[in-house]
Amino acid sequence: MEEKRKKIEYDALVVGAGIAGGETALNLANNGYKVLLVERDHSIGGKMILLSKVFPTLDCAACITTPKVSEIARHPNITVFTESEVTSIVKKTESLFIAQITKNPRFVHVEDCTACQLCEQACPVNVRDEYQFGLVGRKAAYIPFSIANPKAAVIDLEQCTLCGACERACPTHCIDFTMETDYFELQTKTVVLATGFRLFDPLKIPRFGYGKYKNVVTSMQMEREIAPTRPYHTILRPGDGKIPDRIAYVLCAGSRDDSVGNPICSQVCCMYSMKQAQLLMGALPMADITIYYIDIRSFGKGFEEFYQQAKDMGVSFVKGKIGKISEKENGNLMLRYEDIQEGILKEAEHDMVVLSVGMLSNPSVNQIFEGEMLQLDALNFIQQSDLLGSPAKTSIDGVFVAGTASGPMDIPDSILSAGSASSEAISYLIQH
Ligand SMILES: Cc1cc2nc3c(=O)[nH]c(=O)nc-3n(C[C@H](O)[C@H](O)[C@H](O)COP(=O)(O)OP(=O)(O)OC[C@H]3O[C@@H](n4cnc5c(N)ncnc54)[C@H](O)[C@@H]3O)c2cc1C
Ligand code: SF4
Ligand code: SF4
Repeated sequence: MEEKRKKIEYDALVVGAGIAGGETALNLANNGYKVLLVERDHSIGGKMILLSKVFPTLDCAACITTPKVSEIARHPNITVFTESEVTSIVKKTESLFIAQITKNPRFVHVEDCTACQLCEQACPVNVRDEYQFGLVGRKAAYIPFSIANPKAAVIDLEQCTLCGACERACPTHCIDFTMETDYFELQTKTVVLATGFRLFDPLKIPRFGYGKYKNVVTSMQMEREIAPTRPYHTILRPGDGKIPDRIAYVLCAGSRDDSVGNPICSQVCCMYSMKQAQLLMGALPMADITIYYIDIRSFGKGFEEFYQQAKDMGVSFVKGKIGKISEKENGNLMLRYEDIQEGILKEAEHDMVVLSVGMLSNPSVNQIFEGEMLQLDALNFIQQSDLLGSPAKTSIDGVFVAGTASGPMDIPDSILSAGSASSEAISYLIQH
């Protein structure tokens, strides 16, 4: 394998191509630096490209993200590796990091794929579509999602039966089952980690019934239902396809909860739940939406007004801690909760429940540094070693962090953090 490694050289390595990594790469590239942007997924854009609209402006997330991802993909100073992972990084000198990168095969030659979807239609295998968070299925030969970048098919070899139907259907003959993993050795002068966050897994709170009751969904699933690239053309509850008219939000699902090992606030769930409630009221004008909360944290610019706007539109806010969710025969859900203001236990019936799941650290790069210690905080987010003076600095000189890799934050703060990471990386490049 070693001898097959291709040697490459860039000024900066950015790991993770969500909004934070993408923005960092653009800032560096616009200042004349050559950037390698490494993304493990099939598309760049991270979680943001899959969102509906964004709080507090209610701008369309796709309309902001798609021009940005195409600027990244076309930038002469940026090379994007998708399906790729950095397996190790060694700091040799102050201005030389050596990184080993593995680029997994897509089994489709992207430059020849026209995204015609004929392979998708021909493929007989149906599996869960992870980009629609399991709300619908996809094929083993598939285009990740309609605004993916690169917009090209990919073959999911783990699910593929090697029947060859896609290959026969492809008019450009760009499906290639002989593609192999590529290995690269990169020399770079600086590294920015922008590996983002993981969503809390609600199966860890069995009393909420996620995975057991079909009409209990996560906020990311609801985000997909109301996005322009949504799986259905209306809002449906997954259990029976009924259009819901009494929707409940359970805030702090997996946040501020010591019992699941995540005592901190995820910072975005109050706001995105209010956003979704407002969008749902537009899509389903007759629906009742109730938000069950412990505290509403609307701390940012324009956020308190956004909260007021949700109330004015008729969203009900109940200060209540949900004890248990159970299912009725008709698929409706009974929420048993403590009404914190009245200090009594109550029950309420809803036909769909959305769990506003929190943000957890993504430990994917914590172990890749050899001979250097990347310091983490108590919850395994990347530690900012000089939070006030140089917020993107990590414990390794020359390695910076951007976006939610250092802790929960929203999109504007992720973009600001990317600004800080890129300017700190540029000063480092100038000094070394
Ligand atoms: C349901 C929901 C709704 C939201 N709505 C809003 C909203 O309306 N407004 C708002 O401001 N914020 C919202 N947010 C928050 C927003 O999603 C985040 O602030 C933003 O996506 C953070 O971007 P990021 O680049 O830090 O992380 P991510 O989007 O997580 O991107 C990280 C990228 O790194 C890649 N990656 C990870 N590990 C590796 C690795 N080892 N190698 C290579 N690549 C890797 C990932 O595949 C991903 O593409 C919402 C969040 C949720 C969960
Ligand atoms: S792989 Fe071939 S059939 Fe599939 S989308 Fe691309 S060009 Fe079309
Ligand atoms: S070869 Fe695999 S991906 Fe292609 S059609 Fe058959 S099952 Fe689907």
